[in-house]
Amino acid sequence: MRIGVLGAGQLGRMLALAGYPLANTFVFYDLSGHPSVGLGEIIIDRDGEHLADFLSRVDRVTYEFEHLPVEVAEIIARTVPVHPTPRSLQVCQNREAEKTLFGDLGIPTPEWRMAESAAELQRVAEELGCPVVAKSNTEGYDGKGQAVLQSPEQAAEAWAAIGHKRVMVEKFVDFRREVSIIAVRGEDGELAIYPMAENVHHQGILRYSIAPAPELDPEIRSSAEGYIRTVMNELGYVGVMALELFETDTGLVANEMAPRVHNSGHWTMEGAATSQFENHIRAITGQPLGDVSARGVSCMVNIIGEHGDLRRVLELPYTHLHLYDKAERPGRKLGHINVLADDYQELVWRVRNCAEFLPGAPVLSCSLNRRSGQNRPQG
Ligand code: AMP
Repeated sequence: MRIGVLGAGQLGRMLALAGYPLANTFVFYDLSGHPSVGLGEIIIDRDGEHLADFLSRVDRVTYEFEHLPVEVAEIIARTVPVHPTPRSLQVCQNREAEKTLFGDLGIPTPEWRMAESAAELQRVAEELGCPVVAKSNTEGYDGKGQAVLQSPEQAAEAWAAIGHKRVMVEKFVDFRREVSIIAVRGEDGELAIYPMAENVHHQGILRYSIAPAPELDPEIRSSAEGYIRTVMNELGYVGVMALELFETDTGLVANEMAPRVHNSGHWTMEGAATSQFENHIRAITGQPLGDVSARGVSCMVNIIGEHGDLRRVLELPYTHLHLYDKAERPGRKLGHINVLADDYQELVWRVRNCAEFLPGAPVLSCSLNRRSGQNRPQG
């Protein structure tokens, strides 16, 4: 099949790398003017003049990026099947729509309110009780467009820093750890759910994902599976979806979902029988889904900002390096390394060895080596 991908970054690149062995071809549609996909055919269309050309070249359309106009997806859906549905895109790119849907489906979220001015932000912060997290309602990613308020008096400063007209204000969740669940749903409604991952963020950016998440209570896992199944069925979803959650002393709280393959699922490339990328391609092309079980234990280590000494990383026998062919820039995702092991103790040791060669990589601090660590607001 000829697959059209909206967006042209590293996720599109990894979708194509998984899709070529199944005899698919790829055309990328880029609205940013800065595609980094580095393979397949790329149509750069900053003014929206080449959509018809793009559509004439593809049999199916999917996304690797959710911050694009829903209207574009809706126009496309009139000509070519689009997976996931434009409604999924619309819900995932708007925090208010997303949290409202979670609430309607009985999925717990942090307590939240909307604010449309600095004064309203202050009032809402008083009402919810600080600390609170204020987030732009749209266009947020990697912790961008967010501020933590330790007191309502910080509202004016936070409002100015976020710089958006509409902001979601959430009660700060004192979580034990962050986890995510990734699932794939086929055109016939068949659903397969990967083992959950424990995710470690640093300065708002994902740094490590450990899968399967260590010492996961089976009840927690079954709640998360129920949540993602409910959302995917409700949206008539086809393809891979990720749901990010906070694990607290009283259970799970949903943070956000992504209508696409996700960074916290990159471990599946070598750590699962079928990667999230291949399963997404299988789902959107109407093929049977692949086995989602884990092979041993893995940790995905993101390469952020600088490449570091990758020759040394490649010398380690237990690493799998994936580079996105991007130039170095602070905070930019340049690649990732999947580290595999037979047990968690060995995994932690291997990840530490590997991170030695990545400048600025934070020390791995996760449930495996931190007993009392809880999330604390950081200003
Ligand atoms: P988001 O863009 O919503 O995924 O937020 C980025 C990161 O900020 C999350 O991965 C958490 O580490 C942190 N965060 C977001 N919302 C909250 C919250 N309500 N309470 C505590 N931490 C949060």
